[in-house]
Amino acid sequence: MQTIGYDRFQDIRDAVRALCAEFPDEYHRKIDEQRGYPEEFVEALTRAGWMAALIPEEYGGSGLGLTEATVIMEEINRAGGNSGACHGQMYNMNTLIRHGSAEQRQTYLPRIATGELRLQSMGVTEPTTGTDTTKIKTTAIRKGDRYVINGQKVWISRVQHSDLMILLARTTPLAEVKKKSEGLSIFIVDIREAMKSGMTVRPIPNMVNHETNELFFDNLEIPAGNLIGEEGQGFKYILTGLNAERTLIAAECIGDGYWFIDRVTKYVSERNVFGRPIGQNQGVQFPIAESFIEVEAANLMRYEAARLYDAHQPCGAQANMAKYLAAKASWEAANACLQFHGGFGFACEYDVERKFRETRLYQVAPISTNLILSYVAEHVLGLPRSF
Ligand SMILES: Cc1cc2nc3c(=O)[nH]c(=O)nc-3n(C[C@H](O)[C@H](O)[C@H](O)COP(=O)(O)OP(=O)(O)OC[C@H]3O[C@@H](n4cnc5c(N)ncnc54)[C@H](O)[C@@H]3O)c2cc1C
Repeated sequence: MQTIGYDRFQDIRDAVRALCAEFPDEYHRKIDEQRGYPEEFVEALTRAGWMAALIPEEYGGSGLGLTEATVIMEEINRAGGNSGACHGQMYNMNTLIRHGSAEQRQTYLPRIATGELRLQSMGVTEPTTGTDTTKIKTTAIRKGDRYVINGQKVWISRVQHSDLMILLARTTPLAEVKKKSEGLSIFIVDIREAMKSGMTVRPIPNMVNHETNELFFDNLEIPAGNLIGEEGQGFKYILTGLNAERTLIAAECIGDGYWFIDRVTKYVSERNVFGRPIGQNQGVQFPIAESFIEVEAANLMRYEAARLYDAHQPCGAQANMAKYLAAKASWEAANACLQFHGGFGFACEYDVERKFRETRLYQVAPISTNLILSYVAEHVLGLPRSF
């Protein structure tokens, strides 16, 4: 299938596809059934250097941009896998590279590049404040050469398969700041150490095989040197990670979208009912064609968001719009794929139901479609703030 971007980054696509081919549908299906973690797959990606794609060469990485990182994630999903197991390292990386000190970069990047450390977790969401991020209640109070952290997070992913987490906490009470986005700070937390002294992890069983957790902080002490950038400016820094995340997830949805379209096109061409392939009916063709058009259009916005990000230009609108379009397109493709597989779409052995569940997540996380519409209404169209 010739698609937008099909011939871009061909070397990366070929290499990632070859690696993914060693992990066929059965592998991902079994991991899903067991609610396991695709350790061998992530290890293979790490050994091949893909998980260090964004790390500058001087620290042992490949020095690639977010654009290339999105291609890697797209190919994983397009091959039937789920980048949700490993995309954290891609979206966290630039937060550390762009805002971390020289010492922090030197401490962590070479060890992440070799695979000795994983930077797969980001702790932002909280149970009582949800999407209203500036109201988070987790606090980090400076005491001498330490910060003491108290509070709670929810839906924090890959904690069991990460060594490091980027954590957002309030360092100045909301009542004492001029703007609500001030007084927030980000920290790099050593997960293993934290689990021994003040951080409790409670897994949340969920609809997708997505390793995600509730976290409780009870006087967790971390070195003051783990603060990233300037105290109180963390909200600005975390947006570096969030915009990268939205762009990467857009690419993953695009990979999913092509996967669904590939599968359903093949199936409806071969499945004969009423003496002819079901794909001969326009009622079957049109939803598939429509979702293909939407995936292609979303793909253009994904490249634009990634281009702006790599050029260090404002990209909030494009990252949000890419994620919105791609998540919607992959969901439409998923619906068409499930529908035209008939009863077989519900059988685990076809993998459609698994990918259907996986792609559904992206209507809600990492940001819901409603919040994207609200962002565009307010920040792009200049409409009055609704909250
Ligand atoms: C599997 C999974 C993995 C995740 N991983 C992480 C992670 O690693 N790190 C992390 O920090 N977070 C993570 N999240 C959290 C995710 O980012 C949030 O669930 C998401 O941002 C929505 O927040 P919420 O669940 O608090 O929903 P809420 O804020 O409670 O909103 C619920 C719904 O209400 C609607 N809504 C809310 N406010 C408005 C409004 N003003 N206008 C219109 N509609 C509105 C939206 O439709 C929204 O979907 C994960 C979530 C899931 C499910």
